[in-house]
Amino acid sequence: MQTDRTGTGPDPRGAAGAAVIEGGAGGGTADLVAALDIGGTKIAGALVDLRGALTARTQRPTPARESGETVMRAVTEVLDELSAAPGWQRVRGVGIGSAGPVDAVHGTVSPVNIAGWRDFPLVERVRRHPAAAGLPVLLIGDGVAMTAAEHWQGAARGHDNALCMVVSTGVGGGLVLGGALHPGPTGNAGHIGHISVDLDGDLCPCGCRGCVEVIASGTSIARRALRDGWQPAGDDSSAAAVAVSARAGDPVALAAYDRAAQALAAGIAATATLVEIDVAVIGGGVAQAGEVLFGPLRERLAQYATLPFVRGLEVRAAQLGTDAGLVGAAAAAIEALGLRGREARD
Ligand SMILES: [Zn+2]
Repeated sequence: MQTDRTGTGPDPRGAAGAAVIEGGAGGGTADLVAALDIGGTKIAGALVDLRGALTARTQRPTPARESGETVMRAVTEVLDELSAAPGWQRVRGVGIGSAGPVDAVHGTVSPVNIAGWRDFPLVERVRRHPAAAGLPVLLIGDGVAMTAAEHWQGAARGHDNALCMVVSTGVGGGLVLGGALHPGPTGNAGHIGHISVDLDGDLCPCGCRGCVEVIASGTSIARRALRDGWQPAGDDSSAAAVAVSARAGDPVALAAYDRAAQALAAGIAATATLVEIDVAVIGGGVAQAGEVLFGPLRERLAQYATLPFVRGLEVRAAQLGTDAGLVGAAAAAIEALGLRGREARD
């Protein structure tokens, strides 16, 4: 867990300013980066040192149904608090991981679950914050950020070719190729959730049919289970509740997870066959189902990843938890700014 590494308590909620983390480098001299993690439920920010430790952090709920300016105000508040934290003067750049799609070329974001932001000029608006003036600002998608985090500190560490995925209400991902993060020209490469694995399958909100996300997201798992007659024990009809039933042997719940595993396996096998990855890392709420997901996933992968050069492909659970977005945004900024390796002189 990330919190073990930083020695923090529960996440502060941001109301009283950025929490300075015990043992943080507030009075030090070493370079830091500021990281922002922007999703449909929360906007988090942190100062991160070159070893990946969070030295200050804060967050706000995302006012996802309100105007774009209201959402931006929450980002500004997060930056206000971070820039008041000790160490801000040592910040060398800002890394932003945002729900997608993002456009890293133009610095804009259009998160599916933040309706007020369409082609929203996030990079320019962050640059306009008085404390960020003159700092380089890097934007990547949240799947790419999670990948950067897992490659730096987590389950993909030491692997030069990896696919990392977040499977929750949606399905996102990112790639490490040849030892380096591969965000692609616009910051969206590795978006495995919108690869079709069912040619005539259900329509996806993206406009395509049979996308991995339409079958394997938590929402899809719960929908399939309910459609096929699964009876939730109480009010909770989430994918997590389906996992509880599956663990107890409910055949409909098991089948819903198996179908999700099949879609993930087909997408992972296609990726591995195209670019030769040797590990696939899976995080997000659905991965919390543990063996209920990973058991059938390994079996299904053996059916789809059949050529000799992909047969050794390993599937692992992500290690970084909820801080992956912040650590990943920081990792990408550190790499882009050429700060990697400079932690040795701290
Ligand atoms: Zn799609």
